[in-house]
Amino acid sequence: METPLKIYFLPFFAQGHQIPMVQLARLIASRGQHITILTTSGNAQLFQKTIDDDIASGHHIRLHLLKFPGTQLGLPEGVENLVSATNNITAGKIHMAAHFIQPQVESVLKESPPDVFIPDIIFTWSKDMSKRLQIPRLVFNPISIFDVCMIQAIKAHPEAFLSDSGPYQIPGLPHPLTLPVKPSPGFAVLTESLLEGEDDSHGVIVNSFAELDAEYTQYYEKLTGRKVWHVGPSSLMVEQIVKKPAIVSEIRNECLTWLDSKERDSVLYICFGSLVLLSDKQLYELANGLDASGHSFIWVVHRKKKEGQEEEEEEKWLPEGFEEKIEREKRGMLIKGWAPQPLILNHPAVGGFLTHCGWNAVVEAISAGVPMVTMPGFSDQYFNEKLITEVHGFGVEVGAAEWSISPYEGKKTVLSGERIEKAVKRLMDKGNEGEKIRKKAKEMQDKAWRAVQEGGSSHNNLTALIDHLKALFPLST
Ligand code: UDP
Repeated sequence: METPLKIYFLPFFAQGHQIPMVQLARLIASRGQHITILTTSGNAQLFQKTIDDDIASGHHIRLHLLKFPGTQLGLPEGVENLVSATNNITAGKIHMAAHFIQPQVESVLKESPPDVFIPDIIFTWSKDMSKRLQIPRLVFNPISIFDVCMIQAIKAHPEAFLSDSGPYQIPGLPHPLTLPVKPSPGFAVLTESLLEGEDDSHGVIVNSFAELDAEYTQYYEKLTGRKVWHVGPSSLMVEQIVKKPAIVSEIRNECLTWLDSKERDSVLYICFGSLVLLSDKQLYELANGLDASGHSFIWVVHRKKKEGQEEEEEEKWLPEGFEEKIEREKRGMLIKGWAPQPLILNHPAVGGFLTHCGWNAVVEAISAGVPMVTMPGFSDQYFNEKLITEVHGFGVEVGAAEWSISPYEGKKTVLSGERIEKAVKRLMDKGNEGEKIRKKAKEMQDKAWRAVQEGGSSHNNLTALIDHLKALFPLST
């Protein structure tokens, strides 16, 4: 019998990073390897239940708790994940914590060295540490390879951005792509340090499937000489190993019951991920756009309450009587909290997703065969919009008027309700354009589903990845 590999995972403290990485860890455990997830207690709470279920099913997966270095950074007790941040200062401290945690990780790895260490790419210090401890490292990148190619092309072609106004043509990529706005200089600095994190890694793992960005993977592998491991959509892959139905919560019941009363493909789902906070003015315009579109919707609102704000002022960001109207007309539902996104997307009544284009949101929408209306929030999300609309055509663009590297500040330029209404109607109105886009989304969903079945590309990649890691340890087989 083969000796299982001992693999340590280190997810970053943000839902968009942690969710796919924990799914990846669970997938590898389901193939008989021994997994330890290094995390903090506040983060563990967000996924402990699924790990307990996997353990009960006989998988070797456990958590090793680290102490979140929040006190020394002045963070309040319990703030251990970007999902709790509403401003750049708190977010900056959580990013600092990702550096401060290094000594704890190093001492765990020294005490009981794993065969392989899989950190989030954001832990850039893991490169030197792994070299020092002589532990093979393979990074997980929570964004797409398409995004990385865009970043590389932008870096290689500064001349493409000389003009003061867009659209900007991006040269050198497999498709002729344009960006509506210029990436800010801060973005280049941020991505530079991230891409350095890939050096020395045994390739890079992404939550995607080969059929989604094949030409870009070739481009990337040729450029960097590094192997890409597409092991996704991870949410679809874990569904195959989870035997029990998802946990039933009140909010799940409420919105799924509401959706049950709606016609197939008739509801637009709106969510801007776990981080983006739109300005009150933008929320107001969005509400007007949704109302004017005439379509039904479920809107997940994560809103920053201003300091000192009185309770009665709270709802002023909505047009007068908006909530009463949508309730009276049974046309809309607001979720002011954490929504069961994958469940909503997979409901047959959901026919469109107005998204901030976070990479997980994109992959989840593809997995559910739901076409998108794109309104990028920050960073790589501007690139994902291009993959959705210009490369594959399974979405309609609202676009953006300015580049933002922060999800918290709200953009200065507000996109009008009319602009949003127009994009929503292009997709959701019955007619040729919407049908064509929907068909493309279903075709890509079909490819995603095939990728995760036995013999499919992601299923095979997972096997190949484990074989590759085992080959690093000839004595263990
Ligand atoms: N998510 C969710 N409910 C919410 C908001 C987000 O389940 O109310 C999940 C979503 O399904 C995705 C992750 O949180 O898996 C967000 O990751 P993404 O890359 O889409 O965006 P980010 O939050 O990193 O901007």
